[in-house]
Amino acid sequence: MPVWAEIDHAALAHNVRLLRARAGDAQLMAVVKADAYGHGLLQVARTAVGAGATWLGVAQMPEAFALRDAGITTRLLTWLAVPGADFAGAISRDIDLSASAPWALDEIAAAARSVGRTARVHLKVDTGLGRGGAYGPDWTTLVRHARPLEAEGVITVVGVWTHFAHADAPNHPTVLTQQDRFFEAAAEAEREGCRLEVRHLANSAATLLHPSAHADLVRPGLALYGLSPVPQVDDDFGLRPVMSLRARLALVKRLPAGQGISYGHLYAPEHDTVVGLVPAGYADGIPRNATNVGPLAVGDTRTRVAGRVCMDQFVVDLGAGSGARAGDVATLFGGAPGEPTAQDWAEMTDTISYEIVTRVGARVPRIHVNQSPDEAP
Ligand SMILES: *Cc1c(COP(=O)(O)O)cnc(C)c1O
Repeated sequence: MPVWAEIDHAALAHNVRLLRARAGDAQLMAVVKADAYGHGLLQVARTAVGAGATWLGVAQMPEAFALRDAGITTRLLTWLAVPGADFAGAISRDIDLSASAPWALDEIAAAARSVGRTARVHLKVDTGLGRGGAYGPDWTTLVRHARPLEAEGVITVVGVWTHFAHADAPNHPTVLTQQDRFFEAAAEAEREGCRLEVRHLANSAATLLHPSAHADLVRPGLALYGLSPVPQVDDDFGLRPVMSLRARLALVKRLPAGQGISYGHLYAPEHDTVVGLVPAGYADGIPRNATNVGPLAVGDTRTRVAGRVCMDQFVVDLGAGSGARAGDVATLFGGAPGEPTAQDWAEMTDTISYEIVTRVGARVPRIHVNQSPDEAP
């Protein structure tokens, strides 16, 4: 295998248990959208449920269908549908749906009538993120649109929910104003007659830092995967990284001082040196702007990308004394002490660790390790 992502299910289960403990009485929804942030949807979902997640959450309906069609029966919410989406397919698969606008309630209701089942709906309120959800007076309109559909028996409003703009900035004033607005909106829905089962707003950062936002259910994503949503805070919360991205050197050779390396010759060793060829490139999700900066570990050597990251490969400078050989393992990021982290890659490439793990390409096999026997696929 030239390049692979090792997915450590013991670390994942540890993180789920740790987040559950932080969440107190709230239930835990494991957010497994985007192929579980690149880690593998079904495998991650099974381990998360085995470790105590009582809900799963995904953005897109096809992701929810994939979970159900694989036999996963855990309570499941999907939240980002467009007009014409297969709401009937979702209802018949017992998937909870989100609505931010009356059109969504109407489509869900029509689908529920057609399949002869009641749809479970979570109304989304925009408390100040300025993205999804019903904003301002639209909230009242949304709630009042839902009530007759509940009376008809085609939907039941089981949840009210929102999402933070600045949960990752622990002391940002909007965290509290959004939270206040949220509980006010939920209370309004209850005054109008909704009988809410779950009110939920906490992502990873709020799960870790804002107990007052835990409400009935927390929705961590990134922290499940062992990455800190608040890297500026000097605390890893005891999380363990789940993904390690590794490759085997495809070639090791000597190059003389001054020989430019890779496209554009953006790197040239000052002294004669030994270089290794890493068979992973931007097609595999390695950021092209990791050119000359992406950190790696090869054996005990810490080194960097030397020259351009290409589509399928890049070079590392191992130093003149290197005894590395073709086939040796290079770790781009991992979980063990001394290995570079996804957060290191994020900092070197001006992004966030979410993007580093989620962008790992379809060509990179996920190797699942430490799965407990009853969670293995
Ligand atoms: C992605 C997402 C989450 C998880 O966010 P993290 O910051 O990864 O914990 C929670 N809720 C919603 C609506 C999301 O889209």
